[in-house]
Amino acid sequence: MKNGVFPGSFDPITSGHMEIIKRGSRLFETLTVAVCNNPEKKSLFSLNDRLEMIKNACRDMKNVRVASFEGLLIDFAEENGIDTVLRGLRNARDFDYEKELADIYYDTGRLESVFLPSRGEYSHISSGMVRELIRGNKDISKYIPK
Ligand code: ADP
Repeated sequence: MKNGVFPGSFDPITSGHMEIIKRGSRLFETLTVAVCNNPEKKSLFSLNDRLEMIKNACRDMKNVRVASFEGLLIDFAEENGIDTVLRGLRNARDFDYEKELADIYYDTGRLESVFLPSRGEYSHISSGMVRELIRGNKDISKYIPK
């Protein structure tokens, strides 16, 4: 069994992310949800808030860890004994983007990638859409974990 990492901005974590984490946690011995802390990218939620929300949402999954990283994912993976990246695919656009990243991870760090296709009911959910709804004061409860 492999140790996996599910990296992302998670600004905020959505039901779509949760579905990938639940399914991914069954594929790996441990799965680390790694929040990318990029000081140059403005986020709606602070790093601490994002970490807290994910920890809460994942607390019943015993092999899921939550961490943050700065810099390159390949360095975080090497430092943490992680050999596989998990990513979710909603559509062909996601695939084109993820394929490029996967090639770079493999070329530079021999880091393997595994893609899980999102299930239909989650395919339209994105953090960006949730942020827009928050700004417009709309109900987001069905798009995010409790
Ligand atoms: P990033 O800023 O790196 O794109 P995100 O937080 O937006 O990070 O997404 C992290 C990962 O979760 C990516 O692999 C993305 O494709 C996947 N993902 C996001 N939303 C969904 C969804 N609704 N269903 C499946 N996978 C998703």
